Amino acid sequence: MTMLGLMQQQDLLISQLIEHAATHHGQVEIVSHVSDSRSYRTTWGEVRQRAKRLANALTDLGVQPGQRIATLAWNTHRHLELYFAVAGMGAVSHTVNPRLFAEQISYIINHAADEYVFFDLGFADQLVAIADQLPTVKGFVALCERSELPDIALPNLLCYEDLIAQASPDFEWPALDENTASSLCYTSGTTGNPKGVLYSHRSTLLHAWTACTVDGLALSTRDSVLLAVPMFHVNAWGIPYAAAMCGAKLVLPGPGVSGERLYAHMVKEGCTFSLGVPTVWLGFFQYIESQRAQLDLSQLKLQRVVVGGSAAPRAMIEKFGTLLDTFVIQAWGMTETSPLATIGNLLPSQQDLPLDKRFDIQARQGRAIFGIEVGIFSPEGKRLPHDGKSVGEIKVRGPWVVSAYYGSQPGAALGEGGWFATGDVALIDSDGFVQITDRTKDVIKSGGEWISSIDLENVAVGHPKVQEAAVIGVAHSKWQERPLLIVVPKTGECITAAEMTEFMQDRVARWWLPDDVVFVDALPHTATGKLLKTQLREQFKGHRLSTDPV
Ligand code: AMP
Repeated sequence: MTMLGLMQQQDLLISQLIEHAATHHGQVEIVSHVSDSRSYRTTWGEVRQRAKRLANALTDLGVQPGQRIATLAWNTHRHLELYFAVAGMGAVSHTVNPRLFAEQISYIINHAADEYVFFDLGFADQLVAIADQLPTVKGFVALCERSELPDIALPNLLCYEDLIAQASPDFEWPALDENTASSLCYTSGTTGNPKGVLYSHRSTLLHAWTACTVDGLALSTRDSVLLAVPMFHVNAWGIPYAAAMCGAKLVLPGPGVSGERLYAHMVKEGCTFSLGVPTVWLGFFQYIESQRAQLDLSQLKLQRVVVGGSAAPRAMIEKFGTLLDTFVIQAWGMTETSPLATIGNLLPSQQDLPLDKRFDIQARQGRAIFGIEVGIFSPEGKRLPHDGKSVGEIKVRGPWVVSAYYGSQPGAALGEGGWFATGDVALIDSDGFVQITDRTKDVIKSGGEWISSIDLENVAVGHPKVQEAAVIGVAHSKWQERPLLIVVPKTGECITAAEMTEFMQDRVARWWLPDDVVFVDALPHTATGKLLKTQLREQFKGHRLSTDPV
């Protein structure tokens, strides 16, 4: 018979994070840019105090445990206060991606049956347009001071700073079960309706702990963190919680994430750590390269940058390393995995490799972190070896992986063995490094073999004249599909298809070389900055490849 341990049973709760941050790192700063011209300096101590006021205000508004509170907001101190107040009181913080189409936003708010919507003033018009289609919403709270409250047609419009000012700072966080729902994020699926992933206090804390481990993101109280990933994208990759856990300084850029703004914040706030999708860093380097003569790069203290959400091109990893001496940690995950699942840190045997070799390793998506099991599987469901060659769908399981989408029964999203099928295609090498080669639906199937569109895109953006690139499969009468490369040249640059092919031919297998290269001014992106390949496939549906004999 087993014996129970004799240690304290304590639920893991988000309220403990803010209590810890305020008690032990109360003076650590939170710098918040609510607009390009207006910023606030607050502290973890003040965030706790205002979160408690907000919890009282929400209680007075009649918000009950389990009810959903939506936000349409940038990264600001007010959004941070909402994270802790809403979950801390036992309600559910629902971050809505404001970049979605109006129909998607109303679908999501109605599906979640949100009670209140807190919004930044920049999103007021979007809300006015859909307000009459949101039957569950009892009121709208503008994230502003009274003097800034606009005269707009939103029913039951309240002012955030009024709510805070009028409420008491005394609030006792309830003792919740750690499995209580804490936040809700909808996937930004490119097809079908968005689906809700409902995180718990327990999953959020375990995930935050991981970010603070050395082989996780090594987040610590010595870090000044520039949060360049939006708080509506998988809870800013869980960093607000992890930063409270370790007492890191947070720099919240609000709506301004241009290369120029990010650079200025990094210099001013001594940022050591940042996170963002590749598109954000493309803008960052564009700024640096265009202003190179005026900038003193030695002013930057940036040690680590987490790049995820889409594959980090090797050229970007190299630029961070050689120009700024910044280590890129590539991370892979998804809304369904909270999102951290694999993280790219070097093994002892890799640390002293020449830079070029290290960049190659960093260009993969990293290794599974403790808590996440990762496997690759054939279409028939057979587990494939980690031999660096076998390619299959990646499946995951662990305590911060989704079990079911919001509204369905626990376990409904899982397959045999409790695995969650991610829809990403990958190989895993013998050291456990995962390399994502595609989404299942983006793989290019050429004559029975698979070509990785991500690999080709990464090589293409390595060309010094290329700003961005996408590769899609186009119908071919002999090979079924062949790659078409779509290129956005850097401003003022001119490239030819022959130049692109010549650049790529030594860098990829010959039969992978794109059959055609086309040039466009811009590529379509999803609301979270990923290439919108469904649209590209639609756009180039009729493209006749020059290699097609028919
Ligand atoms: P989301 O749920 O919006 O965070 O999107 C998750 C998807 O983004 C994953 O399933 C991957 O297809 C893609 N993704 C995330 N991180 C990476 C990465 N480091 N490399 C390649 N694809 C990534």
